[in-house]
Amino acid sequence: MRTPEEELETIRQAGLWRQLRQIEAIDGPRLTIEGRPYLNFSSNDYLGLAHHPALASAAKDALDRFGTGSAASRLICGSLAPHHELEECITSLKGTEAALTFATGYATAVGTLTSLAGKNDVLILDKLCHASLVDGARLSGATLRVYPHNNLEKLEHLLQQSSDKLSPHGRIIVVTESVFSMDGDLAPLEDIIALKERFGALLLLDEAHALGVLGPRGLGLAEELELQGRIDLQMGTLGKAAGTSGGYLAANRAVIDLLINKARSFIYSTAPVPAQAAAAKAALQLIASPEGNTLRQQLRDRLQEFSTHTNCPLPRSAIVPIPCGDNDSALAASESLRSAGILVPAIRFPTVPRGQARLRVTLSAAHDAQDIATLCSALAQLPDQA
Ligand SMILES: *Cc1c(COP(=O)(O)O)cnc(C)c1O
Repeated sequence: MRTPEEELETIRQAGLWRQLRQIEAIDGPRLTIEGRPYLNFSSNDYLGLAHHPALASAAKDALDRFGTGSAASRLICGSLAPHHELEECITSLKGTEAALTFATGYATAVGTLTSLAGKNDVLILDKLCHASLVDGARLSGATLRVYPHNNLEKLEHLLQQSSDKLSPHGRIIVVTESVFSMDGDLAPLEDIIALKERFGALLLLDEAHALGVLGPRGLGLAEELELQGRIDLQMGTLGKAAGTSGGYLAANRAVIDLLINKARSFIYSTAPVPAQAAAAKAALQLIASPEGNTLRQQLRDRLQEFSTHTNCPLPRSAIVPIPCGDNDSALAASESLRSAGILVPAIRFPTVPRGQARLRVTLSAAHDAQDIATLCSALAQLPDQA
């Protein structure tokens, strides 16, 4: 029998060792780890809302009124007012009939895909879809097809093939992100919608990294392109730009009722703490407000400065990948930034394909112009990237 130590040694030798580091203090993009200060470029808190007083005050109020825990699954006795108010807020912002929230985005992806797809159905995923979508798809038992990243020709081919073979009651669901989590690029959403409509398929769009960042009210790429009304399943997380935690699925009433009745990650899990739901609602209201717009403008200013300093094209999202090639180069680059007091994570296999290890820089409205200058001068001092 192999020992855990042997397995760990294999992981270490492959340059894939991961470990946790305790953060002792946090002040916006400034962290203290093991007594040392760092400037953080690894957070998904794109608007700096995780420390916004409006969210904290909503959370405190819910804490006082509803206590620290939800006591049970939503279906047993944990369906407290803050959860319903959050869902009403999502419904009205997304313009759908209904919405359901989960404890995390991961639980949302797994719960949604396993509820809506099964043995006689087909799920067609972009190759770069997040692990939560892949896990949900696998667990569903549906036939799983994957198209190369953003490749519409191949998507069309898979849709054609799947619809030719589909059983009479079968469903086809196309699954994509709007902003891809490790590349920061965008899906060709309008073309994907045209294709799924042509073949009578459904579309699940995960806006995890677009919420708060894209669209006139920060609701995502679908809002930016005025396509919200043509997307069957609008998914996202409240743990990134919304500065809290949780996940949501916005859709028509029947889909949401189906999830309430079938999604095991919803049914068999204690409801999130009410303070989380209250803070998330405050975050969404803020994102859609003029203040949200100001924060988005600040983020765009930082991205523009980054692009000017580094001579890179203006990023389309807050995520900027810097290719390094192999795991060791990515790790070395990340370590050398760390010793300069800058936190940028090395992203390695299996999060990205082998040979495509990278630094993943994320910018936030909480950074100032000097922070970006500091980052860019440290990047310029790295040995040449692959
Ligand atoms: C982060 C992420 C998730 C998971 O959301 P959590 O709330 O962190 O569980 C799902 N999809 C994508 C694309 C993500 O980046």
